[in-house]
Amino acid sequence: MPGKDTKTRYQGVFARHQKHCAIANGRACNCKPSYYGVVWDRARNRTVKTKRLTTVNAAWNARIDLIKQLCNEQRRPRCVASIPKIQKLLAEARAKGVTVIYTLFPSPSPATFPNPVIGDYVPALAPKGDEPVVTSFVDKFILRDKDTDFKRY
Ligand SMILES: [Zn+2]
Repeated sequence: MPGKDTKTRYQGVFARHQKHCAIANGRACNCKPSYYGVVWDRARNRTVKTKRLTTVNAAWNARIDLIKQLCNEQRRPRCVASIPKIQKLLAEARAKGVTVIYTLFPSPSPATFPNPVIGDYVPALAPKGDEPVVTSFVDKFILRDKDTDFKRY
């Protein structure tokens, strides 16, 4: 029987606890869990997992690599086909003066490796000029963003 899996505070990254871990009995973790990332593979209509890694950071990076692998012509043709449509939407919005704001999930550990750069995923859809990129956990209006970035818009 595998150990218990729990969510981490990082979207799409899970911890796999060892069989003997107290978390299975509702208590605090007392093991050294492994971590893995999960991505939805729309083309195959199922989730895909990274291999299990020793740190949250490694699992986070592996998940980003997996996302990049999945958005290509072979694996996700509709993902690739949507890019020019979104480009057109963005161009029209910008032409009409509509505010464009991007959002991102932060790095689990910015001190160890930098926050993701939105243009790394799909460069064609990257922000232009000084369009803001709000990087925060699930609710983009909490923490600093409520007081700084979004207040301007
Ligand atoms: Zn544990």
